[in-house]
Amino acid sequence: LSAWSAVPAGPPDPILGVSEAFKADKDPRKINLGVGAYRDEHGKPYILTSVKKAEELVTSSNPDKEYLPITGHAEFTKNAAKLAYGADSIPLTQGAIAVTQSISGTGALRIGGAFLARHYPNAKIIYLPTPSWGNHTPIFRDSGLEVRGYRYFNKETVGLDFEGLKADLLAAPEQSIVLLHACAHNPTGIDPTDEQWKEISNIVKEKKLFPFFDMAYQGFATGSISNDAFAVRHFVAEGHQVALAQSFAKNMGLYGERVGAFSLTTADPEEKARVDSQLKIVIRPMYSNPPLHGARIANAILANEALYGEWETEVKGMADRIISMREKLYNILTHDLKTPGEWGHIKSQIGMFSFTGLTPAHTQVLAEKAHVYMTRDGRISMAGLNSGNIEHFATSVDSAVK
Ligand code: PMP
Repeated sequence: LSAWSAVPAGPPDPILGVSEAFKADKDPRKINLGVGAYRDEHGKPYILTSVKKAEELVTSSNPDKEYLPITGHAEFTKNAAKLAYGADSIPLTQGAIAVTQSISGTGALRIGGAFLARHYPNAKIIYLPTPSWGNHTPIFRDSGLEVRGYRYFNKETVGLDFEGLKADLLAAPEQSIVLLHACAHNPTGIDPTDEQWKEISNIVKEKKLFPFFDMAYQGFATGSISNDAFAVRHFVAEGHQVALAQSFAKNMGLYGERVGAFSLTTADPEEKARVDSQLKIVIRPMYSNPPLHGARIANAILANEALYGEWETEVKGMADRIISMREKLYNILTHDLKTPGEWGHIKSQIGMFSFTGLTPAHTQVLAEKAHVYMTRDGRISMAGLNSGNIEHFATSVDSAVK
């Protein structure tokens, strides 16, 4: 008898399963709007020019392949923290931010979950927005935290349920942990306004909640690195201690290189040193130390003024192309096709995704009849649309809802 004869088959991953179905479809009109990876105007994966140049700089310097320290490439993590918190951030200039390299954003969240499960001195309950990125629940549950939800999405308005959000955070036990998407909320594409962030900060303060920011899309929301860091920087300026997961998958297009960082703001350099030592103890038994290559590429961009400028322009280019697809889709649906329903949210939502309001039944018809693939919740990756396929997408949606 095999040791694994009683292992039950698990369900397929809801997002990666969409890509499988897409691959199996042989129709030339097929469109994959499932996975959140940027595509250029020809629907092709896009390697940033700044990344290509940075990679050339790295390889031409003939670097060795020795192990990195447990917390990774020190110059990269310093620059990653500067990117998120801002060069003039008080804890940064005081040397009070503990930061480690991570296996992209997922790894940062997992290190954070494990660190909080071990060292957070209060109730180990984390509140996630409903809905949230599908991997958040398993990441924090497997880290040993109790996962609960706070209201985020209002189905009626296809907008933020701000009253529900505030009521749920006010009702949470004091000192609970609250996960906040720093910008470009996945899957809804709906972010709080700056004024709403200020109110959230006040509630977090009043209830002594611990804010854990997930920033997987810095630059992708508005096209500006600093605008997209507003929430994180505001919370830190307001005196909150924060945890922060950063990913360079989307904004540098380094998906498979797995480049990220996890950081905690601490009281002072002495406390930071103690926190650093415990981050190492969390990480060492997981994977010893992180991969080299992607961190070197990201650092070559962050550390070089000219490349940094070029990168910022490219990030804005990606964000702008997505925004132009939103405009175009909205115009075709409302003006050209007069598709039943209200589609204003397509334009007002932000970042890589749009929560279309399409039902699971619609998504099934779209896949079977129109070769258009998306997750069952009606979320589409706007980056999968381009001038070559947007008409087919819009007319397919039009027939699906009529
Ligand atoms: N957080 C959110 C909200 C995300 O959407 C993603 C990517 N889909 C991640 C974290 C992490 O992705 P990665 O591990 O590829 O950086």
